[in-house]
Order: sequence, then structure tokens, then C-alpha cells
Amino acid sequence: VKGKGKNNFTIFDETIEHQSFERRLLENALRQAIIDNQFYLEYQPKLNIATNELIGMEALVRWKHPELGIIPPVKFISLAESTGLIIPLGEWILRESCRQTKELHDKGYGNLSVSVNISVRQLEDPYFIEKVQKVLDETGLDSKWLEFELTESIFADLKNTVSILQEVRNLGIQISVDDFGTGYSSLSYIKHLPVDTLKVDQSFVKDIHVNQESQAIVLAVLNLAKTIGLNVIAEGIELEEHVDKLSEKGLLFGQGYYYSKPLKSDAFEEFINNNNAI
Ligand code: C2E
Ligand code: CA
Ligand code: CA
Ligand code: CA
Repeated sequence: VKGKGKNNFTIFDETIEHQSFERRLLENALRQAIIDNQFYLEYQPKLNIATNELIGMEALVRWKHPELGIIPPVKFISLAESTGLIIPLGEWILRESCRQTKELHDKGYGNLSVSVNISVRQLEDPYFIEKVQKVLDETGLDSKWLEFELTESIFADLKNTVSILQEVRNLGIQISVDDFGTGYSSLSYIKHLPVDTLKVDQSFVKDIHVNQESQAIVLAVLNLAKTIGLNVIAEGIELEEHVDKLSEKGLLFGQGYYYSKPLKSDAFEEFINNNNAI
């Protein structure tokens, strides 16, 4: 370990130091961003792919740093999770999603549900259910229009998953399993969980028009969902070929760049009007 290895160790050490320095910079920036409220939400339409009727939208957080510009969630969500900053940030995301959805309902777009991504750290917060109830009370959004998107990995990580999810559902909120099919659990575990919707991961959609395996997986998910009474939605629909193949397999709901990228609230409202969707 000594001698020749010493130099290597020094280099390695500097790299780690550099990484943790950058990490600390980003963490401080993230703390400040929460104080200064540098975040906003974009909404991606969800549609009935047979009728093109708009059914709702997924809220996706964006960070606009005054100097660094727009920082995508892949660059800061995991840091927010590991530092616990996802707790205040997640609460803001939830409140803002509910507030803006209620605003759309009040403008006459009454049949839209909003899907909010929730991280495992939020579910572990002992005050989570209380906070959600408070947000619903304060914004006046009927809980039946709210859905939580939880990644499949949550079901492996989290103790007491079932009881927390049950509490969420007791509030009248829907639960969707995000990135479905990418986890290592067997399909059958899903029947033991209080969930409403399976969201087929975009990796299976991407090549569904050319890949038999992806077709088989989507078909298996649709059959499973039918058997146990769940809804299915596909994400990452980019091509007409995707729509055609998914429809052929019997899928009803979807979202993706083919329909629209995630939009700021103004542009989303324009999307509703232009598409005459409701
Ligand atoms: P996700 O929940 O799986 O979200 C889907 C991602 O795919 C989004 O990226 C979306 O913009 C992108 N997308 C939508 N349609 C298409 C398409 O047709 N093709 C392709 N290639 N991509 C498409 P985004 O917004 O960068 O978010 C990335 C991830 O960051 C999300 O994955 C989610 O895990 C996390 N995230 C985003 N917003 C939130 C949030 O508010 N809270 C939490 N906890 N996580 C969030
Ligand atoms: Ca999602
Ligand atoms: Ca996803
Ligand atoms: Ca994902």
C-alpha cells in the first residue's frame, strides 16, 4: 500500500477531495435555491392514445440557478435525497402541483389529474401523511385528482411500504409504479401492493416497434394489469410507430415527446386549448 502505491493514493485522494468539493458547492447552492425558491415546475401531458383526449399531466421539477442556468433533475435530485433537502423541496413540489392543478380546475379544465414524483426519503418522513393532508386542505384540490409516482425500487427499500401506501390511498390519492419493469422484483409481487397504475418504463417503449422482447414485456405487463385490475400507462412515446405498436398491444394511456415535451404552466394551458382536448 505504501511506496509505489503512495502516489496513486495521493492522486486518488485529490480526486475524491475535488469531487466532494464540487458536491459541497452544489449542496450549498441547493440549500440557497430552496431559500430563494429558484425552482419551477413543468407539466408533461398524459393522453388516451386511442382518442388523444388529455387525461392529466406529470409534474417535473426544474432548477433555474441565477448563474448556472437551468440544472436538470438528474443533476440534483439524488443530492437532494442524500442531504434530506428533498423533504422541503418535495413539499414545495407537491404544494405547487396541487395549487396549479386546482387553478386549472377553477378555469374549467376540470378533469385533469396531476402526477407528482415522490422519493423514498419523503415516504420515510414521519410527518409525510400530515403534510400531504395539509397541502390538500390548503390548496383545495380534491385528492382524487392527485397521483403519486413511486419508482419500483421503493418497494424493495422501504420498510412498512404497504402501510404507508395504504395511508396514502386512504387520503384518496392514486399510486403509480414508475419505471415499471426495470426493477429486479418479480411481476407477481405487485399484487400484494396497494397501487393503481403501472407506468411502463421508457426503455421498453423506445424500441418496441423493432424489438420483440420489448413487445413481449409490454404485453406481459398489460396482461398482468388486466388480471389484477390495474391501469397501465407508457412513457417515452416519441414516434408514431410507438403509438401504433402500443395501441396494437392494447395499451390505452401514454405520454412522451410525440405528444409534447414537459411544458411550463402557460404553455401547458396553451396545449390544452390548442388540442381542444377537453
Ligand atoms: P421520471 O419520473 O421517469 O420522468 C421521466 C423523464 O423522461 C423526464 O425527465 C421527462 O422529461 C423525460 N421524458 C418525457 N418524455 C420523454 C420522451 O419521449 N423521451 C425521452 N427520452 N424522455 C422523455 P426529467 O424531467 O429530466 O426528469 C428525470 C428524472 O428526475 C425523473 O424521471 C424523476 O426520477 C426525477 N424527477 C423529476 N422531477 C422530479 C420531482 O419533482 N420529484 C422527484 N422526487 N423526482 C423528480
Ligand atoms: Ca415519473
Ligand atoms: Ca419514469
Ligand atoms: Ca426514471
